Amino acid sequence: MISDKEKLINQLLDNYCEESTISLLKEMIKIPSHKNVEWQEDKQVEFIGNYLTEHGITNIELEYIEENRPNIIAKIPGNKTGSSLLLNGHTDTIPPYNMVIPPYSPEVKDGYIKGRGSVDMKGSLAAMISAMVIIAENDIELKGDLIFAGVIDQEQQSLGSVKLIEDKIEADYAIVGEPTDLRICHAHKGMEWYKIVIKGQSAHGSTPEKGQNTIYHGARIAAEIEKLNFKLMDREDSFVSPPTINVGVISGGDDPNIVPNITILEVDRRYTPEESRQSIYEEIDRLLAKVNSTYPGYITEVITMEDRVCPLKNIPLTGINKNKLTDSLQNSLRRFSDRDNGLTYFRGWSDAALFANKLKIPSLVFGPGLPEKCHSGDESLKIEDLITAVKIYLNVIVDICY
Ligand SMILES: [Zn+2]
Repeated sequence: MISDKEKLINQLLDNYCEESTISLLKEMIKIPSHKNVEWQEDKQVEFIGNYLTEHGITNIELEYIEENRPNIIAKIPGNKTGSSLLLNGHTDTIPPYNMVIPPYSPEVKDGYIKGRGSVDMKGSLAAMISAMVIIAENDIELKGDLIFAGVIDQEQQSLGSVKLIEDKIEADYAIVGEPTDLRICHAHKGMEWYKIVIKGQSAHGSTPEKGQNTIYHGARIAAEIEKLNFKLMDREDSFVSPPTINVGVISGGDDPNIVPNITILEVDRRYTPEESRQSIYEEIDRLLAKVNSTYPGYITEVITMEDRVCPLKNIPLTGINKNKLTDSLQNSLRRFSDRDNGLTYFRGWSDAALFANKLKIPSLVFGPGLPEKCHSGDESLKIEDLITAVKIYLNVIVDICY
């Protein structure tokens, strides 16, 4: 027996033109939207706003967080008798670092669309927008609100989603469309960035024994951090992947003939829901105390890199109980894909952690594209997965809001 909702989905998909989503994504890729273009996310958002309007969605708000940097919130209001769903995705990408394909001339080849943002995450945005347009163009009356939020700045400090949190956006469920290769992710690690400032004693380069060389001390600390990472990777006590630590930047010194008296390490620490911000700072304090006791005289200080990370902290997404959204995504995946439909974890960090922790909205991460293709030199998205994502988002919309 086929249910009424299944019948409706079949009808909607009969009229759906897959080519519309492919050309939408190509147009989005053609508009760069990263921190090094003067218009930042602005032109991308303008394009999305026009596209939605042309396709019958008129309840649209642009909210400028900074100059040239608006969030776009589009809504198909329900009649307030059903559950509401928030579809969230970021409109920024990273710059076209080390790309081996043209970043903004999307090529469709061998079943893939190539270009910056195809995976992270204009593909998912195009799929969300397409699903929403299908609802609008078929005049489907919803019981609960369907809300699309295209947010700025996720690749930096998540200021777009932070604004939604401050505005206390209302939704019963949320999907954040980061690329998960169409796997349902209900948890991920937190992320903390801190600096280790090492102070020593400068001296003339011809008498290095009279100084305390902070580059040497930084190297000793970095070597201990590497060992710590191996230890962390052995841990299997978490339902997300093991924690990690990485030294990403080391800076210090002026000239070869001077003993450097200050060196800074910049560290990325990914922590599991079983850990905490407090425990990871205690951990680095212990490590520094040990190295400093072997090499006395150096002063080390750990400083959170507040201006580079989310002002609400990049806290972990800590998992979800079975609910209408998990049921719907699992059923939708079973219907439209042969992917494993179990709940798993996302490797990176996502804005879902903010909605889940700060507004208590049950939130999942789910989108098309291989996570390892994010930020890659040959970023490319399988078209079949893009179209599957449209069908799954549509199915979830009907399950939750109709
Ligand atoms: Zn992303």
